[in-house]
Amino acid sequence: MTITAERPVSLWPAAHKVDARRPRSLQSKIGASDTVCARRAGYLLHGYAPTDGGEKRKAILGTWLHAGILSTAREEFGWIIERRVEDDTIRGHIDAVQLDSYTATKLPKRLRPSLPAEETTVEDVKTKSTYQWDNILRYGASDAEMRQVFLYADLLRSEGFADIEGQRQLARLGPVPVGRIRFRFINRDSGDDHIQEMAYTAERARGARWWVEQVRAASNPEELPRTFQGPGLSVVCDNCPFKTACWGSVAAGRRPQSILIHDDAEREQALAEYVEVSEQMKPLKERQKFLRAKLDGSESGVYGDNMLSWSGGNPTKVDDVDAMVALYQRAGLEVPMAPDAAAMKAQLKTAGIPVPVRLDPDRRTSVGINVTLRKKP
Ligand code: SF4
Repeated sequence: MTITAERPVSLWPAAHKVDARRPRSLQSKIGASDTVCARRAGYLLHGYAPTDGGEKRKAILGTWLHAGILSTAREEFGWIIERRVEDDTIRGHIDAVQLDSYTATKLPKRLRPSLPAEETTVEDVKTKSTYQWDNILRYGASDAEMRQVFLYADLLRSEGFADIEGQRQLARLGPVPVGRIRFRFINRDSGDDHIQEMAYTAERARGARWWVEQVRAASNPEELPRTFQGPGLSVVCDNCPFKTACWGSVAAGRRPQSILIHDDAEREQALAEYVEVSEQMKPLKERQKFLRAKLDGSESGVYGDNMLSWSGGNPTKVDDVDAMVALYQRAGLEVPMAPDAAAMKAQLKTAGIPVPVRLDPDRRTSVGINVTLRKKP
């Protein structure tokens, strides 16, 4: 039986090529959106070539959603979207600017917003998955996201819109008095949105500028800290175009983070910290287990600030061998007769005969770490 299915051509390879041609993907100068990780910003600033292609489908989906959301804001509200801001050290593209009525009067009528803000607001749209949504609702924008948007706002306040083709009239406004920052989070699975707003503060902007200065002051990227914990522990690192430059290639079966230990002194220090952290976690884990047990059987619903729901507990799917045999027989195919290992094992055990085993060269047990207190001499 040959089963063939003609698949329509995938658009993803084309989407990756289009994404690679976007101005942001080609820039080698530091951009506000590159201020996620200090080491990564260093690689970009020093013109390193990316070492990893990475999977970009989620980022591309985010770009497509951005385009639709922002063009809606422009068409319906007259907000200024996707405009360049820059100075001698940094540049970026602001998602949207909602001008206040007073600033808007300085523009020709056709460029004024139909929905002005009480105070000029810089907006950044972030698309997130359901998996990240609870964190967004609880904690809001991350430090890196804050840094990025405060840099945009600060550039707009100090320099105004960049004086480049396509935004000359905006540039003539000069420095724009940004008063608010707004994040618009969109859940790309459900379409839910969540707004987080805050006042622009010079102190926060100074912090973001200071971060950029540290990156600029480094003479090479290796001097800069890795902001994240590395591949396998951070999705930012998993998708980082400089993953190999940053973590190197480690021996098969070893974790990338193992390059951080160079000698026994560092090993001793890491082990001591491991024990300390484990001790701190123990009572919390026990408490969490106890609370989970207390909640068992509680109805799903909203209780105070939290929503309780349950997942799992469903029958699992197993291969329906009888149905497969019937399918093969209908197709006139020979049903393979493999030995029934489970039945043979059961019979050997009943007869008190040890079940023969051999080592499988392709499979390994998972490696667990065991740390016990050293016996004092
Ligand atoms: S791999 Fe992670 S730590 Fe290294 S540069 Fe990329 S994001 Fe930063």
